[in-house]
Amino acid sequence: MLKVEAPGGAKEILLHACCAPCSGAVLECLRDSGIRPVVFFSNSNIFPREEYELRLSELRRYAGLMGVELVEDEYDHAAWLEAVRGLETEPERGRRCAACFRFRLGRAAAYAASRGLPVLATTLASSRWKVLDQVNAAGEAVCGGMWWGQNWRKGGLQERRNEVIREQGFYNQTWCGCEFSKNQNPLIQ
Ligand code: SF4
Repeated sequence: MLKVEAPGGAKEILLHACCAPCSGAVLECLRDSGIRPVVFFSNSNIFPREEYELRLSELRRYAGLMGVELVEDEYDHAAWLEAVRGLETEPERGRRCAACFRFRLGRAAAYAASRGLPVLATTLASSRWKVLDQVNAAGEAVCGGMWWGQNWRKGGLQERRNEVIREQGFYNQTWCGCEFSKNQNPLIQ
């Protein structure tokens, strides 16, 4: 398993997590690297609420198994809709997604600061359906010096991601999360 080092050698970080499938291999990698994550579920983009609860419940189960703290942010889809207003018809991986990343990572950065956690990373960067540069640009824009732009797909993690999904029998969604992604790309996670 890939060993990673957090910026500044931090041993405790905030890990923004989008779902269990994207978190499996990342949490294993952090554990094996001696880094303790506080997992932060902040995904007001997900719609409808039932889908949000389903993804959260899978992550709760896995966080319990891994023995890591899971913090659940408020679900505020109305605020998220406001953050992407005017971008509803953008294609996936376009400007709406950049605004969506900034919204979620901005909330995560505020929480990390409130807990005194010096480093923030996200499992969003582990999905091959996301543009890594876009995730990192959003992280750098809203998280400043605490951003950790690790590529969680290399070093065998992409393969391990898929294995953990199978081993754990995770619910593995077929669209990104928001109502616009469901309408545009019904087969893409
Ligand atoms: S497609 Fe995914 S990343 Fe893009 S705006 Fe919708 S939920 Fe956010």
